[in-house]
Amino acid sequence: MSESRQGLILIHTGPGKGKTTAALGVGLRAVGLGMRVLMLQFLKGSWHYGELDGVKAFGDNFVLKQLGRGFVKVGGAETDPEDIRMVEAAWDEARAAILSGEWDIVILDEINYAIGYGMLDPALVVEALLARPEMVHVILTGRNAHPSLVEIADTVTEMREVKHAYQKGILAQRGIEY
Ligand code: ATP
Ligand code: MG
Repeated sequence: MSESRQGLILIHTGPGKGKTTAALGVGLRAVGLGMRVLMLQFLKGSWHYGELDGVKAFGDNFVLKQLGRGFVKVGGAETDPEDIRMVEAAWDEARAAILSGEWDIVILDEINYAIGYGMLDPALVVEALLARPEMVHVILTGRNAHPSLVEIADTVTEMREVKHAYQKGILAQRGIEY
């Protein structure tokens, strides 16, 4: 085992809960060590997530930006060109952040959904990840991670749903789901 420091690619995928919150946990750990963390959210949820305000306590060392729109379209209708434009703009920003070397960790939250919906070419993501400065860690979240990303990742975790409160009819709880 080598003790030398190197940037890793991590993926949090699978149908169980915990992908985004685990990435926030990594961010919390790292910011405590004086590292700089950027989280870019590709798909904006319909809630106001607590982490948006939570990370403000860390100033410029832990920054979270919502880049997408409040939508999740599954199958059926054609993808809105406006959504594709927003994902492209989000990707431009993500790519620049990864390549800049200004951040120790870049979290691409829900990027797997954008790829899964055909709004972002995974080959572009692979290319940027392989070209990044060697100390930069990148975390990608979202269900159904693309095989080409799983292939180049170092650590891949699949969240498995054993049970979820939602199945009992318990709606999203403050501080837990948003
Ligand atoms: P979290 O943000 O809680 O870590 P996640 O990132 O793993 O969840 P997403 O696919 O991004 O999950 O889903 C976003 C929302 O759906 C969150 O509010 C999350 O708590 C909720 N959720 C996640 N998994 C499930 C599930 N298996 N059943 C119902 N709701 C879920
Ligand atoms: Mg998530």
